[in-house]
Amino acid sequence: MITEDYIMLSALQHHAFCPRQCALIHIEQVWDENLYTLRGQRVHEKVNVPEYELIEGIRVERAMPLWSHQLGLTGIADVVEFSSDGTPYPVEYKSGARKRRLADDIQLCAQALCLEEMLNCPVPKGAIFHNASKRRREVELTQALRDQVLETIQAVRRLLTGQTLPPPVNDARCQDCSLIDACLPQALSGFDRAAQLNNPFVVQDEP
Ligand code: SF4
Repeated sequence: MITEDYIMLSALQHHAFCPRQCALIHIEQVWDENLYTLRGQRVHEKVNVPEYELIEGIRVERAMPLWSHQLGLTGIADVVEFSSDGTPYPVEYKSGARKRRLADDIQLCAQALCLEEMLNCPVPKGAIFHNASKRRREVELTQALRDQVLETIQAVRRLLTGQTLPPPVNDARCQDCSLIDACLPQALSGFDRAAQLNNPFVVQDEP
């Protein structure tokens, strides 16, 4: 499939974290700074400068542009390491600790799919660098994870085509979300609840 509407790799991470966050950023163009985004910027300062260096026989490319014409993806990899046999190994930098959701892994795997198409070689693994712990977590790019990337691409494409804002998830994710002030998840969830209570077609719970 060749598509003209390219999706940002970051949109996959945003959607896998929360579809409403993806819509707010990529449809409504909302972006708020908070402690988490500022930490993220600090972490990305070094890797956002395009350059490469050789470290113990490994070529390290920073801020490497990526694309997939087949999947309609575009973005930038924080770091791609090339071993002596030329195998690419993407490394995505995150300011916080590991999240329970697979959003970061999906973004990393999508980078790998781009590299496979661009360089015509397999990319079996990559890593997430968590700045909070200063540790790398290696991620096996399994078929199951690749399938999740493809599902997420389709979901993002549907979201962007529909141009509708999904309802707030209003759960633990919101505490880490830079868009909480713009999104108002609690207020909107309360509004939905009130609308349901006033709807005669909705069966109410017993008190
Ligand atoms: S505040 Fe919650 S519902 Fe709103 S965008 Fe963020 S994670 Fe999603």
